[in-house]
Amino acid sequence: MTFSVHGLAVSRGIAIGRAVLVASSRADVAHYFVDDAKTTDEITRVRVSRNAVMEEITRLQQDLPKDAPHELAALLDVHLMLLQDEQLISGVKHWITDRHYNAEWALTTQYEIIARQFDDMEDEYLRERKADLEQVVERILRHMKGVASPVVPAGQAGAGRKLSEQDLLLDDTTDVPLVLVAHDISPADMLQFKQSLFAGFATDVGGKTAHTAIVARSMDIPAVVGARSASQLIKQDDWVIIDGDAGLLIVDPSPIILAEYGFKQRQGELERQRLNRLKNTPALTIDGQRVELLANIEMPEDTAGAVAAGAVGVGLFRSEFLFMGRTGRLPDEEEQYQAYRKAIEGMHGLPVTIRTVDIGSDKPLDKLAGRAQDGQLNPALGLRAIRWSLADPPMFLTQLRAILRAAAHGQVNMLVPMLAHASEIRQTMSLIDHARVTLDNQGVPYGPVQLGAMIEIPAAALTLKLFLKYFDFLSIGTNDLIQYTLAIDRADEAVSHLYDPCHPAVLRLVADTIAECNAQGKGVSVCGEMAGDTAMTRLLLGLGLRSFSMHPSQILAVKQQILRADAGKLQPWAEQVLNSEDPAALLQA
Ligand code: PEP
Ligand code: MG
Repeated sequence: MTFSVHGLAVSRGIAIGRAVLVASSRADVAHYFVDDAKTTDEITRVRVSRNAVMEEITRLQQDLPKDAPHELAALLDVHLMLLQDEQLISGVKHWITDRHYNAEWALTTQYEIIARQFDDMEDEYLRERKADLEQVVERILRHMKGVASPVVPAGQAGAGRKLSEQDLLLDDTTDVPLVLVAHDISPADMLQFKQSLFAGFATDVGGKTAHTAIVARSMDIPAVVGARSASQLIKQDDWVIIDGDAGLLIVDPSPIILAEYGFKQRQGELERQRLNRLKNTPALTIDGQRVELLANIEMPEDTAGAVAAGAVGVGLFRSEFLFMGRTGRLPDEEEQYQAYRKAIEGMHGLPVTIRTVDIGSDKPLDKLAGRAQDGQLNPALGLRAIRWSLADPPMFLTQLRAILRAAAHGQVNMLVPMLAHASEIRQTMSLIDHARVTLDNQGVPYGPVQLGAMIEIPAAALTLKLFLKYFDFLSIGTNDLIQYTLAIDRADEAVSHLYDPCHPAVLRLVADTIAECNAQGKGVSVCGEMAGDTAMTRLLLGLGLRSFSMHPSQILAVKQQILRADAGKLQPWAEQVLNSEDPAALLQA
C-alpha cells in the first residue's frame, strides 16, 4: 500500500528505485554486485562459512563442562537452529541469485528482514531471539572475513554504530535503480557513495546543512534527510520515490503516482540540459558586473566536476575529508601535499582555496584515529576546526607545510576555519611562519599563499577590523554563522524549522562583512550553502557580493540568476530586505 514519509529536502531531483536498507550496525560489510557466473560461488561462500560456524558451535557444546549452566547449552541449541533456518538460507540465495548481491550483503539484508519479524512478535522470549540471530550472522560474517569469532554477549554486537565508511562501492552490473535508506550516514560514508550507483538516498536524522547533506548535494543526487522513522517504515526492496525538491518519500507508489513522478524526472532532465548551455557564458549581470563563481570540493578528484561546470576556481576545498574515515593514521605531509597538488593541477591554473582542517562536530575522525569527538558535551561548541588544529601543533604544522609546498604549483589561498579570538589569529600566523622557516631550513621549495579567514562565528563578524588587519580575504561560512547566531544545531532535524538563513540577525552579519571588505578593497566570498541557493542570489548581489562558492552542481542555476539580475537596481531593494522584520516575505515577493 502506498504511503509517504516527510523529511527535509536536501538535494534536488527525483529518484525512483528499490530500497537498499543499510542498518547502522550491519553496514561495515562489503556491498557490491556479482555477475551471473559468480552467484554460485557466492552461495557457496555463505554455505561454507555457515557450516564452519555450525561445527564451531557443536564443538563448543561438546566441550561444555559438566557443571555448565543448563541455559548455556540451550542457547547453543538455539544458535544451531537459527543457522539452519530455512528462511535465512532461502532468503540469502534469493538476494544472490535474483538481485546479484555479494554474499555479505545478501546475508545482512536477509538478517534485517528476519530481525524485523522478531521485533513484531508478541512473545517476549521470541522477540529476544533477535539478539541470537544477530550473533550467528555476526559469526558467519566474521568467518567469511577470515576472523576468529569471539563469544559476544547477546545484544552487544555492533550496537549503535554509525554506517561505516568501508566497502560501499558498487559496480554496475544491474539495471534496477537502487536508493539507499539508513538511519544515519556519516559524512565520510557519504563520500564513499560518490563512487557508487545509488540513485538517491534518505536518512532518518540530519539537518539541511549537516555535512552529510552537503556531501549528498555535491553528488547531485536526490536526497531527503530528517525523515524520522523512514528506515523503520521502509522495507528492504520496497519501491521508493525520493522527491528531493519537496523532501518527500513515497513508498510502494501506485502506477499513477509512478507515471507522474516519471514525468517530473524527465522535466528535471530537460531543465538540466537547458542550463548546460550556460556553461561557457561569462557570469555578468545585466548592468555588466562580473561575478566570480567558484566551486566547493571535498576531494581532489572533484575538480573535474568543478571545471566541467565552468567554475573559475575552487573557493573551498574542505581538506578535512582527507583526514576522515581512516583507521588509525592521519595523512602525512607527503600524502597531503600530493592531494593538494592534484587539486591545483586539476584546476589548470585557476586559483584553489584550501581550508585548513575542520574536524569536529558532525565531522568526527574515525574512532580508531584516537581523537574521537565522542564524549564531548557539545561538539559543535567544542574542540573543532582551528581549535583542534591549535591543540595539536605538530599535526597542524604538517598540514601547513603540505599546503605551502603545494602552492609552488599554482595559485593557492589558505583559509582558516572558525576563528574568533585575536590570540587564535596570532597563534595561527606564528605557526604559518614557523612552517615556512622549517621549509627554508630544509631547502624545500614552497609557494606564496593569500591568507583568508572564515567568518562563521558571530564574534568574528562583529570584529571584522581585527580580521582584516591580519588577512588578505574573508570567506563567509553561512552554515555555521546561522548555527551559532541562532543557537540551532545544524545537524538536528528537531530544530531544523528554526534554522533560518533569512533571520535579520544573520543577514545583518553577512551584509556588514561584505560591506566592510568592499570598503577596504579586500576579497570576500560566501562559501556556505547560501551561496548555492538561487533564492538568495539576488539578495547577495544587492548586498555587494561578487564572489560565490558552491557545489559545482549548483553553479549553472546560480549563473542563470546572475544573468537575469541588475545589480545596481538590487542594491536599494537589498537594503529594504535587510531592514525588514520579515525578510523572507520580501525575498519571495
Ligand atoms: C560554513 O560553515 O558555511 C562552511 C562553508 O563550512 P562547513 O559547512 O564545512 O562547516
Ligand atoms: Mg563551517
